Amino acid sequence: MDVKGMAKDLVNFLPLHKLPNIDLPEIKVPKAISDLGFPKPQLPKVELPEVDLKKFDLKKFAPLKDGFPKFEKTPKYPDPSFFKAKDNFDWKKQGENLAEVGGIILELFKEADWKDFLLRQKDGFVADANRVAEEIKALAAMTPEERKDILLNGEKRLGKLYRSGCMATVRREWRGVKDTAYDFYEWLHMWGMLLMTFSKDLIPALNATFHYRWMISYMCCVGFMDKNTLGQRGSALRMSHLMIYDIFRYVAENLVFLAKCDEKNGNSAELNKKVVLFDEMTMGQLMAGFPDLMGIPYQLMPVFLVSEIDQLTCVPYIDAVESFGLPADTCPVPSSECGALVLDALPHMGACFISSSMPCDGSVMASSYMSRRFPDLPVFHLTFPVRYEYEETVADAAEDIKACIKFVEEKTGAKWNWDAYFRNMKRFNEETKYELEKWEVNKTRYPQIIGPAYELFRKWNYEMDGGSDPRVPKTFRKVDRIMKKAYERREEAWPGKMKYRGIVWSCPAHYYANFSNWIANCWGVDILVEMESLNFTKPLETEDKELALQDLARLYERMVMRRHTNGGYQNVVDELWRQCEAWNVEIIIMYQNVACKNMSTLQGILDEQARDKGYHMIWIEHDLMDPRTVSRKAMRAKVNEYMRTVMKAEPVDPSLVEFDDENAM
Ligand code: SF4
Repeated sequence: MDVKGMAKDLVNFLPLHKLPNIDLPEIKVPKAISDLGFPKPQLPKVELPEVDLKKFDLKKFAPLKDGFPKFEKTPKYPDPSFFKAKDNFDWKKQGENLAEVGGIILELFKEADWKDFLLRQKDGFVADANRVAEEIKALAAMTPEERKDILLNGEKRLGKLYRSGCMATVRREWRGVKDTAYDFYEWLHMWGMLLMTFSKDLIPALNATFHYRWMISYMCCVGFMDKNTLGQRGSALRMSHLMIYDIFRYVAENLVFLAKCDEKNGNSAELNKKVVLFDEMTMGQLMAGFPDLMGIPYQLMPVFLVSEIDQLTCVPYIDAVESFGLPADTCPVPSSECGALVLDALPHMGACFISSSMPCDGSVMASSYMSRRFPDLPVFHLTFPVRYEYEETVADAAEDIKACIKFVEEKTGAKWNWDAYFRNMKRFNEETKYELEKWEVNKTRYPQIIGPAYELFRKWNYEMDGGSDPRVPKTFRKVDRIMKKAYERREEAWPGKMKYRGIVWSCPAHYYANFSNWIANCWGVDILVEMESLNFTKPLETEDKELALQDLARLYERMVMRRHTNGGYQNVVDELWRQCEAWNVEIIIMYQNVACKNMSTLQGILDEQARDKGYHMIWIEHDLMDPRTVSRKAMRAKVNEYMRTVMKAEPVDPSLVEFDDENAM
């Protein structure tokens, strides 16, 4: 057989060898994506409205008719008897736990590479010495005017506060004499509040650190405060501190209650009888009608909030539940909640549990894990319709609320109190009015209250507090006064850095809760509002009982994430363009939680319409509570790339374009 000849015939037969010689055109490599011929966004020049401050007369809101008048002494909250409830420690078990923790510490101590540890300390010391020397040199090289500016207005290059491999910034930010002094005062104020709150029942509170590793992350909450206020000065700094303080006061109080109630720890039977646990994604307003009880968003402290403070907290939870067979593409919110149950990281406590189908189906899975882990805990499932455009479903949802009230009454022996409910809802309505004023100011050319602290406060107030804490309206009023004065003075939240107006859409990454702070400091993009703030703002009914239940149902249906991710086309797509117009933004930060299936289905539509409408839409992938999938650095890289190539912009702080915070909390 002529094998050679056959191979030659075969090769000649292949059409590849018969392709004609084509002269290929030269390709001009584009310098920027905009050179590829995408239409350059051409937003119309809009005259931004001015706000008439006179129309926001404070007297319009206070004093409240049946609420707490402005100058009346604020009632004690939470009920002091909750802190005084008797604990029932099982001291033998505490001893066993301490022995186990001691054993782990000893093992760690023995296994630690002390040589490496000392070397790292030495490296850290040398790096600090070099940094101080460099900073002194840089100061010496400045002109007297520059030095005066730094002294009075603070530093401008914030990237140097980060060091590769470190868990915290190398030092606190210098904000100028006045603002640094104020910032330090608030730092002390926060520590004072934390110590005072913990001292209300110190033993279970401290003992919780021997049971739950997430408790340790709360020791760094002041670092979280710093991350959220980085670069802020003057009024913006003051407003951020006031809002963060209220959130952390709530957190500290609830940490004490969790510790007191936990069967493993304080085991207070007296308090447990009064505790109604909520799924963390379920709003707390329902508890307003039970003034003698206490509602606690159950997973908020061990999972949700702590993952915003420490980016690595949820990693062991996610790994644990995935090793049990949960698919890795499940949203990290319910995954972490289930993983926390698998690792026994949630306290065993409470008289009953209210679960819900909110914001999406993942919560249903978490509820079933919860029932299996604590079969003795009675559970009520709130399952509201996801039909915002159809008022016909409101009656069904109101029935669901009625049934839930009955369930709580049966399980706790408490009675629903309409007077207490209406009083709290009046307070909540007042708070919503103040919120709307913030929006009006931010829609103008001189937005005042922007950044992560504002967003976190809105979320917390809307979802968790819901008008129950009588101390909170005071914060609203203070912030309101500061905001209006700042508006009159035309202040800037990030002085000299405000260049673009932006909006955030879709669910943000917990492990980068201060992303809007970074984008403002680095690129001058001011996030005027985030999707999760834009919920229900209709005043809730405070007279008619039936109408009140219907309003409550409408409110619950529109909890954070739910309407805007699960509400269908009108609530996700149309609503975005409506908001973009209302706030007159040019940049949309479009988060894409890689595990949020509802939002993924709309990517193409959103992209196409954004291009047609002339908005800059920057897609930022993340994995909500798992920074290993998309790191903070990778999230920043998406913005850096877009700003350089499409916007052809220069960073306002180049030191923040590239830095390493993979290990930072
Ligand atoms: S991020 Fe998406 S999938 Fe996860 S809880 Fe929110 S709506 Fe559900």
